[in-house]
Amino acid sequence: MAAYQLAQEALAGEFAARWAEVLAAVEARQVAASLTELEAEWSAAIRESAAASHALSAAFYRLVRALETGRVIGGPGYRPNSSLGSLWADFNQATGKRTGSGPREVLPVDTRNPFPAADLAREARRVEETFRQEVTARVEKHERERAGRQGSAALDDPELIAWEREFLDSLKTGSTGAGGMLVQDAGRTMIHTALQDDPGAIGYYRKTDSSPCYFCALMAARGAVYKSKRTAAFGAHPHCHCQAVPIFSRRYRLPAENEMFARMWREFGGGSLADWRTHYTKT
Ligand SMILES: [Zn+2]
Repeated sequence: MAAYQLAQEALAGEFAARWAEVLAAVEARQVAASLTELEAEWSAAIRESAAASHALSAAFYRLVRALETGRVIGGPGYRPNSSLGSLWADFNQATGKRTGSGPREVLPVDTRNPFPAADLAREARRVEETFRQEVTARVEKHERERAGRQGSAALDDPELIAWEREFLDSLKTGSTGAGGMLVQDAGRTMIHTALQDDPGAIGYYRKTDSSPCYFCALMAARGAVYKSKRTAAFGAHPHCHCQAVPIFSRRYRLPAENEMFARMWREFGGGSLADWRTHYTKT
């Protein structure tokens, strides 16, 4: 399941690299005049990586489900006469790596499609909204500050140059984290929603990246989250590469990291979230 988490992280990385290239081509002083072009590039990059995240999630969900229940589920990417072999092939194609294989025996099918249809208009609005917060608002604030500085320094003043660079760096960090979250949310939402609508699924656990923050470590320490009528939102944040791994039988095995976080939580013994944060960062 690490292959899935890493592949989703790589999609966020792919977006980050493309966005970094776009940003590298503009100077701090040109950003305000380039917002329209920047937004077009930003949206296109997110849209493409998010579509890949979607496809990867469906292939992953279908594979895990088949491995645990011996049955194939319908929905996007479903191919007739699927076998564990073909599901592994689909997953390997989506990750770009060969991670496993299986027999060619045709599996029985559940025709239900639990995957939510992509709400493109809603996704586009979220992308637009995030751009406004992470790019437009920052640029406007920066422009106001520059206007306030006007006349106080020459254009080649080292302090001014450093100030402009710092602005671009923070713009890049903020927008890359938020964009990467949108990319991975495409896949995360798909799995999280599919579980609720799939009678075969019993819940999920959180597979963290290699260095999760205290919040994600705590979420992972809880182990399996069994689904209920009101399963809480997954709760990702910028620069978070955690993924939801669906569970279809009580015989699931948690990754070693989740067991480790659970052990840390028991050792911690209790306290506030802030206390846990201190405990977690010290260990
Ligand atoms: Zn996380």
